[in-house]
Parts: sequence; C-alpha cells; structure tokens
Amino acid sequence: MFKAIQLQQSEQGTQAQVVSLNESDLPEADVQLDVLASTLNYKDGLAITGAAPVVRQWPMVPGIDLVGRVTNSASERFKSGDLVLLNGFGVGETHWGGLAEKASLKADWLIALPDGISPTDAMAVGTAGYTAMLCVLAIEKHGITPDKGEVLVTGAAGGVGSFAITLLNKLGYQVVASTGRAEEADYLKGLGASEVIDRASLSEKGKPLQRERWAAVVDCVGSHTLANACAATQYGGAVAACGLAQGMDFPSSVAPFILRGVTLYGIDSVMRPLADREQAWQRLAELLEAKDLADISRTISLDEAIGVAKDLLSNKVRGRVVVKIAD
Ligand code: NAP
Repeated sequence: MFKAIQLQQSEQGTQAQVVSLNESDLPEADVQLDVLASTLNYKDGLAITGAAPVVRQWPMVPGIDLVGRVTNSASERFKSGDLVLLNGFGVGETHWGGLAEKASLKADWLIALPDGISPTDAMAVGTAGYTAMLCVLAIEKHGITPDKGEVLVTGAAGGVGSFAITLLNKLGYQVVASTGRAEEADYLKGLGASEVIDRASLSEKGKPLQRERWAAVVDCVGSHTLANACAATQYGGAVAACGLAQGMDFPSSVAPFILRGVTLYGIDSVMRPLADREQAWQRLAELLEAKDLADISRTISLDEAIGVAKDLLSNKVRGRVVVKIAD
C-alpha cells in the first residue's frame, strides 16, 4: 500500500483526498519509482481544486513534477536506485502524477537528476524554474549577450518570473522587472532586478512601434503586455513568450517583426524533447545555489498539500512550495 492524493469527479465538482492505494492500482508503464519530492505548481492547484479542467482522466493522482528513486525498470536507460526527474508530459493531467509515495512512468518522459542538485532543490525549481531556463536559453541562443542592453521580465513576482530574474542576473544581464505588486520591489531587487516597473505601464493597448528599449524579453503574461514588449524590443532582439497570465490574446502588429527583425520565440515546457530538458536542467544545476532556493521556497508534507493548493489559488502563497515525500 502507498499514500497518494487522489482526485475524483462528483456532481459537487472535484473531490481531493489523501488515500491508500495498492501498487497494482498504478498505471502501466516501464519505470516504477518511489517518489522523493514533488511540488505545487499553479496547474496542480487548478487540478486539486477543480478550478479549471486540467484533469482529463478520473480518478487522477495530481502532480506535474517529481523526483523519484527507480525501484523497477524495463527500460535500458534506467536501473534500480537511479534518481530521475519528471516535468510535464501530461503527468498529473492524463497519467497519475507525483503527489504520491509511488509512481509508474514512461522512461521516455524521464531524465536523470543532474549532479549537484538535491531532490528537494529540484522541486523548488520545478516547472517554473525549468520554463524560465528554457526562456533564457532561447535568448542566449539568439546571441543576446549582457552588453546588448536591458532584459525585461514580465509577471516578475510569479514563479517563472522570479526564476528568470535570478538566472538572468547570475548570467550578468541587466534585468528590468515588471510587476503589479509594488510591495514586492525589494524581493525582486533581492533576486537581481536593477529596476522594477509597474505592470500597468505595459498592460494597455500601445503603439505598434515604440522606443527601442529591450535587448530581450521573458514574457509570462501575454496579451497587451506581450504586444507592448515586442513593440519596444531593439532591432534584432528576442522575445521569449511562455505565459498567459494577462490573457491568451496577442493584439500586436507585424511591425516589430518586419521592420525591426524582432524574433518571437514560443516556449513550451510540457512536450519539450529530452535533450532540451537535459540541457536546461544541467544549466539550472550549475547556476543555482541552495541558498537561492531557500529564499524562494518552503517545504510541506503530502498531508498538507490539498490545503496549500487551495491557498495557492487564493494568491496566499509567495514563491515555491516543495512537497517532501521521502528521503
Ligand atoms: P504565477 O506564479 O501565478 O505568476 C504569474 C504572474 O503573472 C503573477 O505573479 C503576476 O505577476 C502576473 N499576472 C497575473 N495576472 C496578471 C494580469 N492580469 N496582468 C498582468 N500580469 C499578471 O505563474 P507562473 O508559474 O510564474 O507562470 C507564469 C505563466 O507562465 C502562467 O501563465 C503559466 O500558465 C505559464 N507557464 C507556461 C509554461 C509553458 O510551458 N509555456 C510553463 C509554466 C508556466 P506580478 O504579481 O509580478 O504582476
């Protein structure tokens, strides 16, 4: 028997509870593992509370991120005792996920936990930090070096935004953080932002071409914010779009792309190929120190996760939440 959070669909909506399950209940896959740590992302909060239709199969064990120790593997890539890392691939949505003591997953979804990062630190990073790293890699690959100018990060006080600031600052970029939470200015400067701007300055409809300010942009927000960010990006600059916190729409014009050669990179973390994941996690392990993660994360137990998932959706949680499951 093992402990798991299980979601059931009922007429009253999604019901979440901690239950005991048999290992024979686990979905069929080629790697079985003991989960050591998971985390609560916004998407997990949506799944656990039923606030949005994230879950596609019932019953479901939520948890889109996990680190586990392999107990049984039919794949040549992994053997018993290996530490493995999973982000996304629909786990916690269409396949049982990480908020449980055990999981059964496809080897094709897993990478080895890189050296130099502990299971709980990897979960403090989670999909938020991994997505931020993918955005930073896109900017680097475009050839934007720190001397090219300021990099804008929107949705700065959120999970992806906070990691984007931290990583860009460590790489020597000058970061401007856009936030709606003026009270978080000291937090954002502590992460490495050189300037904090009010997100209201970006969130309304603006001119299709504006003063060229940003060498690059990490956008977590979409909608008018993304349009204004593109309009104020320097000639030849790069915009990495990963989020939709303001909206799914993109009310822009082609002007920044055809007149200034701006490139818009779409960043998806969920179905990202393994080689890109390995590169992103290798860089995260090299760049982040345990103290960076201690400042922005706290640890809870599996039993506390349902309550904290509700707090997460009520905006009562700052930073990252690690769910520690085993040593
Ligand atoms: P989060 O912690 O909830 O942060 C989102 C931030 O966006 C908020 O903290 C807020 O920042 C800002 N924001 C919220 N509502 C806004 C509005 N109406 N207008 C402008 N800004 C607003 O979420 P996250 O985990 O960082 O994720 C950020 C975005 O990336 C989300 O849309 C998420 O769905 C997406 N995401 C995508 C991928 C992918 O694979 N592409 C992976 C992970 C996340 P301030 O308080 O600083 O203003």
